[in-house]
Amino acid sequence: MKQELLIPQAKIRSRILELASQISSDYSGKEPVFVGVLNGAVFFFTDIVREMTIPLQIDFVRAASYGAGDSSSGHVRLTKGLERPVKDKPVILVEDIIDTGLTISKIMDIIGEQYPESIRLCSLIDKQERREKDIVIDYCGFQVKEGFIVGYGLDYNEQYRGLKDIYTLHF
Ligand code: 5GP
Repeated sequence: MKQELLIPQAKIRSRILELASQISSDYSGKEPVFVGVLNGAVFFFTDIVREMTIPLQIDFVRAASYGAGDSSSGHVRLTKGLERPVKDKPVILVEDIIDTGLTISKIMDIIGEQYPESIRLCSLIDKQERREKDIVIDYCGFQVKEGFIVGYGLDYNEQYRGLKDIYTLHF
């Protein structure tokens, strides 16, 4: 397998500073709950949260697919849910990559059942090639047309997560 550099560390860093500044200004006067989707979003999550200039809270969820097919089958449940109630609070969901959109749309439905004040989505990567659900990504790091992406939290069979840059993997 060959790795091709797609987004270098410095570009990730500067985009995170832009996003954190935008979110800090949009949520000025509020105390949003940043909800990270484990495991892939973990580096993106910790990097963006530490650049925020307003008070905030953090929590995490972990999703797993069940039944036939892979994570894009749309049969998604949370194997780890929120640990504190988000009723009437503004939630910012932080994901690594939106592909078909099925996973994040289920997670948003499940969190929505708790009646948060609002839910917005922040994703490091918006990969539009296989999109099935109409998803609004309020804060998007990078748009990528196609390919399988690894690094900076994103894995292939649990490999590559620790890479500092983002790569396209050629099979
Ligand atoms: P969905 O298709 O439901 O939007 O994405 C489901 C999950 O598939 C993502 O959260 C991510 O874990 C995984 N995924 C989708 N595309 C890629 C990719 O290009 N690289 C990696 N590493 N994971 C991906």
